[in-house]
Amino acid sequence: MAPDRQYTPAPSHDVTLIGRLTQQRTIVVEALIRADDFVGAQALHDQLAAAGSPVGLSTVYRTLAGLARVGRVDVVRDASGERLFRYRLGPEHRHYLICTECGLSRPVDSGPVEEWADTIARTSGFANVRHTVDLSGVCPDCGRRQAADEHR
Ligand SMILES: [Zn+2]
Ligand SMILES: [Zn+2]
Repeated sequence: MAPDRQYTPAPSHDVTLIGRLTQQRTIVVEALIRADDFVGAQALHDQLAAAGSPVGLSTVYRTLAGLARVGRVDVVRDASGERLFRYRLGPEHRHYLICTECGLSRPVDSGPVEEWADTIARTSGFANVRHTVDLSGVCPDCGRRQAADEHR
């Protein structure tokens, strides 16, 4: 299935959603879009540093946390509990199945989850009802590797 690429990322607009438009924040958002996968703050900072961008780790953390707050990224936790962020290419959030071994992630059909969450939101009397659903497991490649290790 081809990924949805119709949505055009707008780094500067995303930055204005979380606060003042600064060049450093824009650089972080652009790097996150380029990463095109789940990435942690430290790893993103390392990529920027390697490319010669003088963006501080705390700026990376704050920008990613801000994007999470306004719903511009999907967030999962890896096996060690670190938060990983992926730029959201569409206006709708998505849910992911993430491998606890290698970090591979793939979007999953979440229709029933959305219907259930909508029903709760409509009937509970609560406002701004949000949900977080992450599925994790071991991907086929890692599963094969584990099986091979066991038989060695
Ligand atoms: Zn894996
Ligand atoms: Zn959802």
